[in-house]
Amino acid sequence: MDHCTLCPRRCGALRTAEEGHGFCRLPETMRIARIAPHLWEEPPVSGQRGTGAVFFSGCTLRCAYCQNAEISHRNAGRPFTPAALADALRRLVDMGMQSISFITATPYTEQVLETLALYRPPLPLVWNTSGYETVETLRRLEGVVDVYLPDLKHYTPRIAQLCAGAADYFPVASAAIREMVRQTGAPRYDEDGVMTRGTLIRHLILPGATGDAIALLDWVAETFGREIPVSLMQQYVPCNHVDIPGLDRRITPREYRRVRAHMEALGLPGFLQGPTSATVDFVPVFNQPESFPGEG
Ligand code: SF4
Repeated sequence: MDHCTLCPRRCGALRTAEEGHGFCRLPETMRIARIAPHLWEEPPVSGQRGTGAVFFSGCTLRCAYCQNAEISHRNAGRPFTPAALADALRRLVDMGMQSISFITATPYTEQVLETLALYRPPLPLVWNTSGYETVETLRRLEGVVDVYLPDLKHYTPRIAQLCAGAADYFPVASAAIREMVRQTGAPRYDEDGVMTRGTLIRHLILPGATGDAIALLDWVAETFGREIPVSLMQQYVPCNHVDIPGLDRRITPREYRRVRAHMEALGLPGFLQGPTSATVDFVPVFNQPESFPGEG
């Protein structure tokens, strides 16, 4: 692929089958670090039996504190053809999953579309993303993706620049989320409470950044009213040897209470994720034989 501009970095970089020369350093061939049932997403995504999660290698945002840095920063994973991924999706369906989640798949948009042309799972298809997406790439997913699961991470350019070298994060992600909501409309659910269509916005509260969290919740309420659910997460753990001043601790109960109270005052629907998941024990195993259960 010449001149890749799939994500907002718009590197214009050459990506060959084996090598990538852009910010993400990803080749054109899909690389995947884990394909397995996953039970720890929000209930409308995981259901009772789990979402079939495909963790793609690499990330176009690469937050300094990422708990999955092994794949997002260091691109751990193995190559997959569209035919091999289609076979893996069939296995996930046979395992009784209630949705399929593609996690940070944007650099492989082309190959994902090829895969789905070979086999379209009869389940809601979830696009799990950092929120750092271009509207142009999202338009290619219209009618393909059923559920968008974007993060909405930073409001102020200073924090976005410090954490991810992406001062433009908020204008880019807010435009992307507007496009996601335009495509999917208000959430719809099946009889088990699994989202079959819609957008669910996630926000991870960062230590010392409750002002950012509140500004983002205000933006959601002003833009979408009470139509779009928000998952408010308090399980930040300093990972990846993060050396940004202030990000070397968990959030305090007081910080969490402040943001939660604001979300409740706005009347936003959604989910409040507890501190029980504030541990790196929740990080899945990547790029090992057990990361690909069911393979022959
Ligand atoms: S997907 Fe990778 S190569 Fe393409 S524009 Fe984004 S960072 Fe650059």
